[in-house]
Amino acid sequence: TADAVSQPFQAEVAELLHLMVHSVYSETDIFLRELISNASDACDKLRYEAIANPALIADGAPPEIRIVPDKKADTLSVVDTGIGMDRQELIDHLGTIARSGTKSFLARLTEAKDGAGLIGQFGVGFYSAFMVADRIVVTSRRAGAGEVWTWTSSGGSGFEIAPGSEEDAKRIARGTEIVLHLKPDAKKYLETHEIERIVRAYSDNIQFPIQLVPEEGEPSQINSASALWQRSKSELKPEDYATAYKQIAHAFDEPAMTLHYRAEGRYSYAVLLFAPSTKPFDLFEPERKGRVKLYVRRVFITDDADLLPAYLRFVRGVVDSEDLPLNLSREMLQNNPQLAQIRKAVTGRVVSELEALGDKEPENFAKIWEAFGPVIKEGIYEDFERREKLLALSRFTTTAGEKRSLKQYIADLKPNQTEVYFLAGDSIERLKSNPKLESAAARGIEVLLLTDPVDAFWTSAALDFEGKPLKSLSQGDIDFGLVPLLDEHKDETKPDADEASIIAVIKATLGERVSDVRASQRLTSSASCLVAGSHGPDRELERLLARQNR
Ligand code: ADP
Ligand code: MG
Repeated sequence: TADAVSQPFQAEVAELLHLMVHSVYSETDIFLRELISNASDACDKLRYEAIANPALIADGAPPEIRIVPDKKADTLSVVDTGIGMDRQELIDHLGTIARSGTKSFLARLTEAKDGAGLIGQFGVGFYSAFMVADRIVVTSRRAGAGEVWTWTSSGGSGFEIAPGSEEDAKRIARGTEIVLHLKPDAKKYLETHEIERIVRAYSDNIQFPIQLVPEEGEPSQINSASALWQRSKSELKPEDYATAYKQIAHAFDEPAMTLHYRAEGRYSYAVLLFAPSTKPFDLFEPERKGRVKLYVRRVFITDDADLLPAYLRFVRGVVDSEDLPLNLSREMLQNNPQLAQIRKAVTGRVVSELEALGDKEPENFAKIWEAFGPVIKEGIYEDFERREKLLALSRFTTTAGEKRSLKQYIADLKPNQTEVYFLAGDSIERLKSNPKLESAAARGIEVLLLTDPVDAFWTSAALDFEGKPLKSLSQGDIDFGLVPLLDEHKDETKPDADEASIIAVIKATLGERVSDVRASQRLTSSASCLVAGSHGPDRELERLLARQNR
């Protein structure tokens, strides 16, 4: 039309679309999950905005999602009666990529060989519809607005934005209609059984009714639309949880831990949380935060309430409160004492559940530790209150084996051993040949081998576990005291007659380059090693830190 305006896509979007169109990724089904999830978000937003502005839903039309296949036109439409988008929102939301996650995903996608796999693993929102459509027309009316706008694109480098027709304005009272002109090889998405299958697999727990509108016959609801977390544990099967996890967390893996309970008492709330079994690509992005969703009496409020501390940011799911007010402002999210109470209780519960999993389902726990151990260890220095519990959760590679817990370490202490020893460095291989291990090895003392950058942080606090101090083998004086040598003939604790004079010669030779030269218990076969002072920074840890900051 005369009023249509062409706009270029942001460079990242154009790049993403190019990859999408040329990808050999075969699991194209996810496009429907992405569109339904957007429609559901839009219905959530409408319900939320209507709390402050009831006029938005004065028409009484309930928020819902409709899927309309049209075999004559070869189009599939996903329609919602949610919040809708105005002109500027269409331009901003469907022309750029705002999510930091998507940006770093894109960087990965370009460098990865298996780019297609990544698309399936993470989903890429609205733009994934271009896997199945060669032309998309979005027509939308923002709730409460007079105007209807259309956004049209065939992928490529840009889109067109134009005022909606009179006919559009009649059809769309509120919300968004997305019409996909299907590619020739995507016609199967017009079949009702295909649509039903995909919705059941990915979107069954969407809270709003999803109506399938067939070309002939009556529309029917094809999802169960239950807020699963409100149902009782006894009526749910593991598959129900797995499906809910995929839908709530936008995930494709299986949850390694599921936590479902209802807290009753001073405050009542339902909790459904999952720990993934694989690592997302943006786990260490600085902006990455927890994404546990806060609901109040089944109304979605925000996924930005920091319900769990940063070191549990990999946990996904829902907390649904019975008592919080619906109109929670940003400020209240930060200062509400009830929310603080919920945070504390849920955090404690997640930590003890992880601990229990470590004992009862070591294989599942190992998956979580493998993927998120470095994140959980951040808690050792951030969460003073739960430090001991988090240390108990931690697993280490040690000179005695892999996946060792500190409890196991303590159980295997040598006679007279009163401390827990560790050595930090950049690889297990290099650590194993470090001469600083020699004397511990001669006594059969187990040493934790630390190679995660985060280890530099938590070990820099003076910690102990079950009353045993943790000590670095590359720092200060090490006194293995009364721990006997395995081979008693090799007693190196007796001072050598010439020791004092040798030290004097070395000191004179090295001069100012060292602060001290001492006889040490650390070594058995090597002649000497460099160590840091007891109070200064640890050399190895400094190197780990440098790696982290790079
Ligand atoms: P995400 O959903 O992760 O934000 P998407 O690419 O799926 O990313 O969607 C981009 C944005 O477009 C959404 O955040 C939302 O603002 C807007 N949007 C998409 N679909 C709809 C819809 N049906 N109704 C309202 N807004 C939508
Ligand atoms: Mg989305």
